[in-house]
Amino acid sequence: MTTEMATAAATTDLEPLRNSVNGPVIGPHEEGYDEGRAIWNGAIDRHPAGLACCTGVADVVAAVRFARDRGLPVAVRSGGHGVGGHALCDGGLVIDLSPMKGIRVDPAARTARAEAGVLWGELDRETQLHGLATVGGIVTHTGIAGLTLGGGIGWLMRKHGATVDNLLSADLVTANGELLTASRDENPELFWGIRGGGGNFGVVTSFEYRLHPVGPIVLAGPIFHPLENARELLAFYREFIATAPDELTTIFELSVAPPVPLLPEEVHGKPVVMVGACYAGAPEDGIEVVRPLKEFGRPIVDLLEPKLYTELQSTFDPSVPHGWHRYWKAVELPPLTDDAIDTLVEHASVQTSPKSYCIVFQLGGAFARAGEADTAFSQRDAAHNVCINAVWTEDDLEGDRHVAWARDFFSAMQPHAGGRVYLNFLGDEGTERTRQAYGRRQYERLVELKRTYDPTNFFRLNQNIEP
Ligand SMILES: Cc1cc2nc3c(=O)[nH]c(=O)nc-3n(C[C@H](O)[C@H](O)[C@H](O)COP(=O)(O)OP(=O)(O)OC[C@H]3O[C@@H](n4cnc5c(N)ncnc54)[C@H](O)[C@@H]3O)c2cc1C
Repeated sequence: MTTEMATAAATTDLEPLRNSVNGPVIGPHEEGYDEGRAIWNGAIDRHPAGLACCTGVADVVAAVRFARDRGLPVAVRSGGHGVGGHALCDGGLVIDLSPMKGIRVDPAARTARAEAGVLWGELDRETQLHGLATVGGIVTHTGIAGLTLGGGIGWLMRKHGATVDNLLSADLVTANGELLTASRDENPELFWGIRGGGGNFGVVTSFEYRLHPVGPIVLAGPIFHPLENARELLAFYREFIATAPDELTTIFELSVAPPVPLLPEEVHGKPVVMVGACYAGAPEDGIEVVRPLKEFGRPIVDLLEPKLYTELQSTFDPSVPHGWHRYWKAVELPPLTDDAIDTLVEHASVQTSPKSYCIVFQLGGAFARAGEADTAFSQRDAAHNVCINAVWTEDDLEGDRHVAWARDFFSAMQPHAGGRVYLNFLGDEGTERTRQAYGRRQYERLVELKRTYDPTNFFRLNQNIEP
């Protein structure tokens, strides 16, 4: 924190905010401050002047006006999982939406409205009560807000599109404190922009999603193999997914087996490759589809079987707990070549921290059918999203070495990549990388929108689109 920021943090008078916000307003040295400024990535350590814990739209309007009138920088926090830590700031105001947990499912209309503080596990729980779901992330404790605003990929995407393709409307508070609704009929250009444009246009207070019949039992789960068999497995996988139906979405991951109960103890700490799949249809219809994957090689453990959708969604929770230190580098890939597979396996084999991993999502299907004109989340034609995750704990003094591993891995992937990246896998990497997430035409359209809704760049602590 600079001296200037420290002064701002210490001297901002929060009393007027306390008088206009229903939820707690927490300043430095007050109870709850350190808990309130802790986010998923433990490597982020920032000291805001205050945290406005909002309980509803009126609180958000009051917080925006308070910050705007005083020229305070504003960070917006929902699930707190953005790896770059834009949910926090030094010396400014954090508009914390995590207390906003309202969810209402309309089973007849197959829609759900959820407030911005809702996490994916919370939304799935309510929609699964009716055998419904929308396309969400693959970890229950990720926030719906940041994930939706950046696009949204997950187990259901090849059947039902990206999360933003299932967004029907959203309410948001603009930089001048005005409450707007964005949908196909109301403020359609804004609606296009928030479906991929991140937090650039306002604070979204609630989302309305389209739901689909899903589960409650789905044929899904991971299959683990030894990393030494990764080249053969991934060469087979490439052919397997080339003809996979839209119902099937797969993910593979190169890692060191974590000491979690779902894996036999003898593989804990050993390098592994995991291929996971979810069949978004009747489980009995998926059995023949996944058979080749289940029959390939000699897996360490095969958990691709019928299970509750909510169980699938929490499979990876134990391996991504809050508070560990993280550094991510991401790229998008065309269909895997032998060289790309070699590079992936080579770099995964020399990871410096046993907690690090590289995860690769299979795209295509309905996800790829949305066009540039549909949503700001574009460039849907990549075959894979790759996220290289360096992970370590606070007491591990080799953080720099783990970061260097991720950077080297990322550089080595460049010859195989198309110079694009998925916005939600970006850290705090600057404007050029944000542009890569959109491509030139989309970025220019977003700039125009930014000039309309936030010409002073009030919302700039994000993957920023400069007006
Ligand atoms: C463990 C883990 C698993 C993940 N899995 C997936 C996955 O399966 N699929 C996928 O697509 N992504 C995934 N991601 C990436 C995820 O989409 C991003 O990290 C996303 O930013 C998380 O949203 P959040 O609300 O939790 O985070 P936050 O840190 O609260 O928000 C991130 C940023 O989004 C903006 N923002 C958040 N809320 C609002 C709001 N209400 N109004 C305006 N702007 C807002 C702000 O700029 C904020 O800094 C994962 C991330 C993690 C850490």
